[in-house]
Amino acid sequence: MTSPMSTAYERNAPDARIVDAALEPSVRRVFWFDDIDTPPAHPVLDSDREADLAVVGGGYAGLWTALLARRRNPGARVVLLEAQTIGWAASGRNGGFCGDSITHGEANGRSRWPDEYDELARLGSENLDAIESDVATLGLDCQFERTGSLSVAVEPHQVEALRGDESAGEWLDSTAVRSEIASPLFLAGRWERTNNALVHPARMALELARAAVEAGVVIHEHSPVTELESGRGGPVMVRTARGSVRAQSVALATNVFPSLVKRARLLTVPVYDYVLMTEPLSAEQHASIGWANRQGLADLANQFHYIRMTADNRILFGGYDAIYHTGGKIRERYENRPASYRRLANNFFAMFPQLEGLTFTHRWAGAIDTSTQFCAFHGTARGGRVAYTAGFTGLGVSATRFAAEVMLDRLAGESTPRTRLEMVRRKPLPFPPEPVASAGINLTRWSLDRADHREGHRNVLLRTLDALGLGFDS
Ligand SMILES: Cc1cc2nc3c(=O)[nH]c(=O)nc-3n(C[C@H](O)[C@H](O)[C@H](O)COP(=O)(O)OP(=O)(O)OC[C@H]3O[C@@H](n4cnc5c(N)ncnc54)[C@H](O)[C@@H]3O)c2cc1C
Repeated sequence: MTSPMSTAYERNAPDARIVDAALEPSVRRVFWFDDIDTPPAHPVLDSDREADLAVVGGGYAGLWTALLARRRNPGARVVLLEAQTIGWAASGRNGGFCGDSITHGEANGRSRWPDEYDELARLGSENLDAIESDVATLGLDCQFERTGSLSVAVEPHQVEALRGDESAGEWLDSTAVRSEIASPLFLAGRWERTNNALVHPARMALELARAAVEAGVVIHEHSPVTELESGRGGPVMVRTARGSVRAQSVALATNVFPSLVKRARLLTVPVYDYVLMTEPLSAEQHASIGWANRQGLADLANQFHYIRMTADNRILFGGYDAIYHTGGKIRERYENRPASYRRLANNFFAMFPQLEGLTFTHRWAGAIDTSTQFCAFHGTARGGRVAYTAGFTGLGVSATRFAAEVMLDRLAGESTPRTRLEMVRRKPLPFPPEPVASAGINLTRWSLDRADHREGHRNVLLRTLDALGLGFDS
């Protein structure tokens, strides 16, 4: 077969005027927060207080940690400190794919931890079941729908890869996959019916905060922690500009933001991921694509899209570009990247040409905490009084609950099936400091894009990184 040297999205590109017209009405704001009433505010920490556990970070990881800490020990004084507002960062702006993997997928997990992968898969699946059960028992109003996932091949070489991957669910040939979701690009698919749920990300964060407060957690927003201070033994002082918490133990759930444990800082880099949201589909438009089973949808390239319906029948279309900005900083201006939004809009209409005329209402971006092992790492500091987790690499909606349990196990000094995992005990390799980081990451990105243009063929750099268990993903 000759090399196509272009992707299906390039070969089926719509007219540029269709892309421009569709993007024109969009605002650069996270749809999920526009879709809810004003969330309740939590006061700034402006005094000195005591706690058994101080949690730093009000995304999913911090919220699960605080909530589960009170469940384990209803008498514990738990204080959560958030630099801005609950869920404003990755937890409120993601795609809402809540999967059963704690290893960023089976292939990554199996290649890194072959001996314990079966256990990791079991724990991942238990983790998703636990989230489903908590959503029901705590009454979390977050539009949880366990619709599974559909992986689709859009290039001939992906069909073969997918055919060989029997663990990825029921095989669908081109007719069957198009009868699920009608796209002329879909050549084949695999449908896994229970491995994934969809959630409304911002509601999930705010509902976890509500449940945490109801369980007795005290939350302070606009209270960035500036430092941790501790002597030998005894409590840890968690300092903010206007107050402090003297805590017996501390859980750091600060994701892509600079870690308060300095040695953990080179373990992640921020990678920006871009998202579009359409207006709600009319009944006719919806009928033209099918999608009655509302699966979470993803294509298979190195640079992949994640695509889903919302409760009010919009389509979220995200991914593909994963941009590392030189210097590795988190900056609001990086969210404004017209080229990435245009590429997404182009790819959207290549996938669904029958939706020409549909417009996007929102476009936004967020920083992903990429680690070299593509999934979270877990550590402790200050003689076991501080636990931390980060590195979810774009798949943390569900894995944050597992990470919260790991932090609580460790702070309690308990040996559990979770803490005994090699995945939990070992840290990934750090990224090199700048300017080497930029050069390496951008060369890797270029190679991945090239592989997507050349029937998936990986060049020497990618093969070397694969062999070393290193790489770059989103
Ligand atoms: C665009 C996008 C799409 C994604 N899509 C998916 C998806 O579909 N499925 C999936 O599984 N994952 C997805 N992810 C990843 C997922 O959103 C994250 O892995 C997950 O939300 C991480 O949760 P967290 O609590 O660790 O981090 P965050 O939500 O980032 O929360 C960390 C919090 O810590 C606070 N903080 C940091 N430093 C301090 C400090 N010093 N003091 C006080 N507070 C501090 C921050 O203000 C922030 O609120 C996506 C991410 C992005 C950006």
